[in-house]
Amino acid sequence: APAILWFRRDLRVRDHPALAAAGDGGRRVIGVFVLDEALLAPSGPVRRTFLYRCLRELDASIGGRLLVLRGDPTEVLPELVAEVGADSVHVSADAGPYGRERDERVRAALGVDWVVTGSPYAVTPGRITKRDGTAYKVFTPFRRAWEEHGRPAPADTDESAVDWLLPRKVRAAGIPEDEDLGGTVLPPAGERAALERWDDFRDSALTGYDGDRDRPDRAGTSRMSPYLRWGCVHPRTLLADLDGSTGDGASSYRDELVFREFYADVLWNWPGSARHNFDTRFDRMRLDTGDDAWERFEDWCAGRTGFPIVDAGMRQLLAVGWMHNRVRMVVASFLVKDLHLPWWWGARHFMRHLVDGDLASNQHGWQWAAGSGTDASPYFRIFNPITQGTKFDPDGSYVREHVPELRGLDAKRTHQPWTLPEGPPNGYPPPMVEHGVERQEALARYGEIKTST
Ligand code: FAD
Repeated sequence: APAILWFRRDLRVRDHPALAAAGDGGRRVIGVFVLDEALLAPSGPVRRTFLYRCLRELDASIGGRLLVLRGDPTEVLPELVAEVGADSVHVSADAGPYGRERDERVRAALGVDWVVTGSPYAVTPGRITKRDGTAYKVFTPFRRAWEEHGRPAPADTDESAVDWLLPRKVRAAGIPEDEDLGGTVLPPAGERAALERWDDFRDSALTGYDGDRDRPDRAGTSRMSPYLRWGCVHPRTLLADLDGSTGDGASSYRDELVFREFYADVLWNWPGSARHNFDTRFDRMRLDTGDDAWERFEDWCAGRTGFPIVDAGMRQLLAVGWMHNRVRMVVASFLVKDLHLPWWWGARHFMRHLVDGDLASNQHGWQWAAGSGTDASPYFRIFNPITQGTKFDPDGSYVREHVPELRGLDAKRTHQPWTLPEGPPNGYPPPMVEHGVERQEALARYGEIKTST
């Protein structure tokens, strides 16, 4: 009997332990992906299209034998098992709240072996606990425990060693066409692109990563996030490569990968943290939510706040489905502390437009900025969008790349176009708020909640 490998966030064939388990002993493997509306609907056209392109690459790498079905996995997988007479369904673990609950339902509905091997993380979320059995809420001790825990070496899998089977009688949905991206330009999709990107980064920018990673005006980060999101590459593959590198660049890059593992672990332990303040004092924070607030939110989304570094970030998001990490922190802080809007409005906008949109990293990145997260940035540390701009984009080139209205300005004016005698040029808006005033307002609102429990 053949085995089914249900692909989810593992759209690759190399270093794939679940694939190795499915094909063990030369068994025939049916590779299937299920287009599940519950996951596709909140993804937005950018991430859906990137997914479809990754599926096309995966399909090509296994000789056109990827079976793509559409529907509720609880129904379509048991049907497939019955139609092809499979004896097992193999997966990599899903650590997200929806995925875990769905997997329980699928497992119960199957009636054949359900085999979980590995996960999209070097250490499967939920495995690392403190001595008293509870989960970590703070990054640094988590990282220490993560290092001590150890991780397996990359799995030696290879598509050519697998006997892929595409059952002809099953009605496949096929891989959907690209959607209208409204001009967003995506990176190349799939496993080969991921490995090429990694090689490029490792050879050219890894050494300088520690110094450059905070500079949106430089190509200093790896841009591996969309590939890690879809499992076009496993972090274990990258970590194994980093083991051979010394220096601050490599160790700082490792830390970032561990951050990804930390947030997945936090979400696994506290699934509600995707929607609710981790620190419940923040449930009482006064937020602006009326019509006025919505209008300000729309200006933020469109990159029309009048603060150049914020607008550059928001426009970069729409242009390429990705935003530099430093700027993600700046725009998030601006939404929460200068505009006093709910962090989850911003998180939802990000999840709709990010090609790397990932529930664990995104919701916890937002809660970090909002001060309500696990080991969040203390609320009273409020980013000044002008100094953030001049510090991390000193000659203004990042801003000028994404905000064409400001292209003629020098470094200093780029971050403060309102100081020009005639005001901001080319219809660029004046600042929508006064940062100093909103800072005081944010601190006052924080004062109302900080002592309550
Ligand atoms: P690099 O600097 O090259 O880092 C390498 C890898 O480490 C990244 O690909 C990513 O997997 C991981 N990583 C780096 N920084 C972080 C971090 N702070 N938290 C968790 N993992 C990290 N990352 C996502 O993958 N998806 C998201 O939806 C997402 N939303 C975010 C929202 C906010 C408000 C903030 C502040 C951060 C968010 N991040 C998210 C984290 C980070 O911004 C991105 O992972 C990073 O910018 C991706 O670019 P890169 O691959 O070039 O990163």
